[in-house]
Amino acid sequence: MNEEYQGVRFVTVFRGDEPPSHPLLSELRHWCRMFHDHGLAPPYPGGSSGNLSFRAGSSLIITGTAIGLKDNLADDAFVEVIACDPASGRVEARGRREPSSETLLHALLYRHFPAIGAVFHGHHDTITSQAETLGIPVSPSPLPYGSKELAEAALTLAATSDFFVLREHGFVALGGDMAKAGALCFARLEKLAG
Ligand SMILES: [Zn+2]
Repeated sequence: MNEEYQGVRFVTVFRGDEPPSHPLLSELRHWCRMFHDHGLAPPYPGGSSGNLSFRAGSSLIITGTAIGLKDNLADDAFVEVIACDPASGRVEARGRREPSSETLLHALLYRHFPAIGAVFHGHHDTITSQAETLGIPVSPSPLPYGSKELAEAALTLAATSDFFVLREHGFVALGGDMAKAGALCFARLEKLAG
């Protein structure tokens, strides 16, 4: 869906302004850089269209909204999401900026699938437009970014697949850890390269 980015679609209640500090942050930073370098999170003015997270205990740590993944991201580019209520559209977070617009999607995946330790969401024209030909599961219809409906479509696909496409939008890779989620993305890119 070529929908213009208009900010997050939830309300963030901040429980503190400390940026996350976690031993796995450097690994998340590495995968952000990889996504940028390999065209999996195309830049737009003021940010990059991709969002990556890992599970951190009962929280998740995710890229902030409107973050350029090309940059050597400082800790305050990331946000800890402590709680997320899809029904009210309310997110509780700690950090210095709004968490990614797709926070709902990440949070619901972690909640419903305890084995998931990392969620990487990126955008790649060929993977998205040719998913069916490539044998990648695709959600039935295009849905607005950041919506509860999009998150629920991801939940349905995640029940049977760890790499899938949100129709006319982008892909989602799921792993027990970041290395596994990242490997799925790069295996897919290698296949495209033939
Ligand atoms: Zn997206």
